[in-house]
Amino acid sequence: MTKGGMESVELFTTEGKGRGLKAQKEFLPGDVIFAEPAYAAVVFDSLTHVICHTCFKRQERLHRCGQCKFAHYCDRTCQRAAWLNHKNECSAIKRHGKAPTENIRLAARILWKMEREGTGLSEGCLVAIEELQNHVDSFGEEEKKELRADVESFLEFWPPHCQQFGMQLISRIFGVISCNGFTLSDQRGLQAVGVGIFPNLCQANHDCWPNCTVIFNNGKIELRALSKISPGDELTVSYVDFLSLSEERRTQLKKQYYFDCTCEHCKKQLKDDLMLAVKAGESKPSADTVKEVIQLSKDTLEKINKARMEGHYHEVVKLCRDCLKKQEPVLGDTNIYLLRMLSIASEVLSYLQMFEEAADYAKRMVDGYLKIYHPNNAQLGMAVMRAGVTHWHAGLIEAGHGLICKAYAILLITHGPSHPITKDLEVMRVQTEMELRMFQQNEFMYYKMREAALKNQKIQVMPEPSNENAPSLFHKKE
Ligand SMILES: [Zn+2]
Ligand SMILES: [Zn+2]
Ligand SMILES: [Zn+2]
Repeated sequence: MTKGGMESVELFTTEGKGRGLKAQKEFLPGDVIFAEPAYAAVVFDSLTHVICHTCFKRQERLHRCGQCKFAHYCDRTCQRAAWLNHKNECSAIKRHGKAPTENIRLAARILWKMEREGTGLSEGCLVAIEELQNHVDSFGEEEKKELRADVESFLEFWPPHCQQFGMQLISRIFGVISCNGFTLSDQRGLQAVGVGIFPNLCQANHDCWPNCTVIFNNGKIELRALSKISPGDELTVSYVDFLSLSEERRTQLKKQYYFDCTCEHCKKQLKDDLMLAVKAGESKPSADTVKEVIQLSKDTLEKINKARMEGHYHEVVKLCRDCLKKQEPVLGDTNIYLLRMLSIASEVLSYLQMFEEAADYAKRMVDGYLKIYHPNNAQLGMAVMRAGVTHWHAGLIEAGHGLICKAYAILLITHGPSHPITKDLEVMRVQTEMELRMFQQNEFMYYKMREAALKNQKIQVMPEPSNENAPSLFHKKE
């Protein structure tokens, strides 16, 4: 087996934690440690006709596979690239009469690849697919039932002329999928569109304050360095968003990934004090008042979720404003309940084109995030970008340009220069720089031109606030 681009990392085993990845050389922030194509990947059932089955980009007009009428592609290039993995699937779908669900399709793709390449290590993989972690043994009754149903549907779909695998291996593959399935996002990083298995990536252990990040770009995942990494350092990624108390993160990790996080930030509850900050000094509120406001915040978040689901955005704005009024005299600037409210308020107000109020909230949100997140955090970069666009649309060109530059600097590291979002930011950076220069030379002219531009062409509408959470790293049930 060749290492296929995996020369700079090494697999190791530790007591208790299982396998992990170590750096073999030095890396600097933004370096790509490795890029890995999926061993197998599928588009979610609900999106099979709007997302390309090869590159997972969302496209206006997709070509349909003439044979099965199920697979969709950007163009001939994507279709040709898919054929090796689609050939068996294509005829099985025709035979079966319809395409099975995403889990079954993914398992079938994995087993067809095993049929082609045999079991054991395949090209460029540090670990064989059947050796990946699975938690079948610790499955509860409900999960076991689902597993049996999946195996049954799989057997109905799997053609009799293909290699017949044992029940144990098939169950194991479903366990591997539920344990290691990685969420694939569309090219804007906004929506989860599919799930794939990346055997090397899933050797990287979790840390709430990791030294690496993973980004899906053009059909491959990239493991990118966030800070300076020395040879021998363990490479870690975070499976969850950092913007939760250590206890909440630990609960989520235990529930979805079956382990107790023992990272430095959890052990020492680092940054929890910031995330629970209350107003200090003269006007320090009583413990009871703090408790009350936090309970109110939790209740309001629930009401907001419901109103968002139903598309009642003006109701969301009202709920946010009322809650913020109660929070402001009590909670500190970095309190996560305040930050969550500011984030929703700025997002929804931008969508409603009330940019000035949105910009004010976005600014406070970013100031809080900057104190909590690692400076090279992808979520931070995306939030700064949204705040920059909001300021720009509010006509606050100086602050807008500053935020867009800041977001660009973060995304160069977390996403890299070739990622579509980074490219968008580059365009915005150039555009706002030009407008800023105009503004500095002649403020009056700038506003005149802006007015004229707005009259001729409506400001690009912000995307409708999504009811889904940002795609999580691995494809897990909540
Ligand atoms: Zn494509
Ligand atoms: Zn087909
Ligand atoms: Zn942790």
